[in-house]
Amino acid sequence: ATPTSIMVGTGRAAELGILFRKGDALQSLREADVVALDKTGTLTKGRPELTDVIVSDGFDANEVLSFIASLEALSEHPIAESIMSAARSRGVAVVPATDFEATPGFGVRGIVYGLEVLVGADRALKKHGIDVSAFAEEAERLGDGGKSPLYAAIDGRLAAIIAVSDPIKETTPQAVRALHDLGLKVAMITGDNRRAAEAIARHLGIDEVVAEVLPDGKVEAVSKLRHGDRRVAFIGDGINDAPALTEADVGIAVGTGTDIAIESADVVLMSGDLNGVPKAIALSKATIRNIK
Ligand code: ADP
Ligand code: MG
Repeated sequence: ATPTSIMVGTGRAAELGILFRKGDALQSLREADVVALDKTGTLTKGRPELTDVIVSDGFDANEVLSFIASLEALSEHPIAESIMSAARSRGVAVVPATDFEATPGFGVRGIVYGLEVLVGADRALKKHGIDVSAFAEEAERLGDGGKSPLYAAIDGRLAAIIAVSDPIKETTPQAVRALHDLGLKVAMITGDNRRAAEAIARHLGIDEVVAEVLPDGKVEAVSKLRHGDRRVAFIGDGINDAPALTEADVGIAVGTGTDIAIESADVVLMSGDLNGVPKAIALSKATIRNIK
């Protein structure tokens, strides 16, 4: 491509709210075969809501929620916010927790009312030797509904399965269709529960899902999607998306995301609307075609 055609292309992109941070991104974008998207905050709004609290025999839902919320009050995860807002609206007591510990990709633990409390994904509880199979049916049902199941244990006993649901952005279904119309494969990479991720992917018509990826596993997920010489564009917003944005053939950050994601990206979407991705790809194809 000539410098002039690239300037025209990037200028046109800027009008569409797409910022090219690297000069060669306009060309590499055109070669993408797969568009891989982070789920939380990229495909979805990133503002989950607590939808279900199902307790084990002998536990009271509001009491368990009080234990959970007291712990999550110290976490900055969006899941924590959804739990705090549910606790507030139910008028559940939140007390100071101690010995708080957060393990990225797993969950949180600490002492509440003098008892050890764990909240997190199934792998978090299993790591502490707590069997979650008593809620296997509920977990499947919640996951199949696109809700992410989480578990709580109090004093070493499984106390509840809860679920959070993060609404899909209104603009996402159209963006996925537009990517398919351009002949691209669409993939999702997420740390979230497999069943919930697959239900959301099915709903959106997404072709491939890599789920339950640990925070440092997204780079490996991107390189796996590269099989058969495919070129991968990765779209993300979070701190833990930064290495994958660098690893991908083209990294695209959502402008509503974290600074580190934006700094790691080749392309930045000014808004959270993913329709900027097919627009940028279509533009890159048109620009390169013009100069041939
Ligand atoms: P993602 O950004 O895809 O949600 P994370 O690595 O932040 O990925 O979290 C992965 C999983 O770890 C979450 O889906 C949840 O199951 C669990 N988790 C992380 N932080 C918390 C928390 N504060 N409370 C409960 N569960 C958590
Ligand atoms: Mg995200």
